[in-house]
Amino acid sequence: MSDTHDLSCRCGATRWTIARAARGTLLKCYCADCQTFARHLGRGTDWLDAKGGSAIFQTVPHSLGFPDGMAHVALLRLGPKGLFRWYAACCGTPIANTLSGPGLPFVGAILRPDEDRFGPVRVWANTAAARAPVKASGLARAVLGVLSRAAQARLTGSYRTNPFFDAAGAPVTPPTILSKAERDAARPH
Ligand SMILES: [Zn+2]
Ligand SMILES: [Zn+2]
Repeated sequence: MSDTHDLSCRCGATRWTIARAARGTLLKCYCADCQTFARHLGRGTDWLDAKGGSAIFQTVPHSLGFPDGMAHVALLRLGPKGLFRWYAACCGTPIANTLSGPGLPFVGAILRPDEDRFGPVRVWANTAAARAPVKASGLARAVLGVLSRAAQARLTGSYRTNPFFDAAGAPVTPPTILSKAERDAARPH
């Protein structure tokens, strides 16, 4: 058995891995921004669940690797201050969210809604924007998980390995920022 979970974009040109040993929290996020991102990429049905939720495995960046297709990896922001939203530009497949710098070692790896290799969903977040009622739960657990994993990555030095940022802290590819019109066109109704 390999020591990674293998993931791929829809067309197969971009491949990434998440370490099986990666500590993390599986979360469903229903926020309008995550829905907007998926819809902008044309993934509003196959990468969101029936209630508009994105499946996100929150872990540390050094757990991710790109064995193939790093040249296709692109970066989007929904606005000038938006989260960094990474995707495979070959076919418009969401990959991950990070903050706008590597200072807090955090990544939210975006999974297909039917992905079952990352344990049960522990957190239901930003449920007010869900398409159908969802009970919010576990947000404190998510925040504590992010902070404790970040602290450990700092202690061990593993935070220095980050596929999304170079050694100077700049993103490996420059972000594209959506205009308000582009953002509005992709927003959930
Ligand atoms: Zn692709
Ligand atoms: Zn979200």
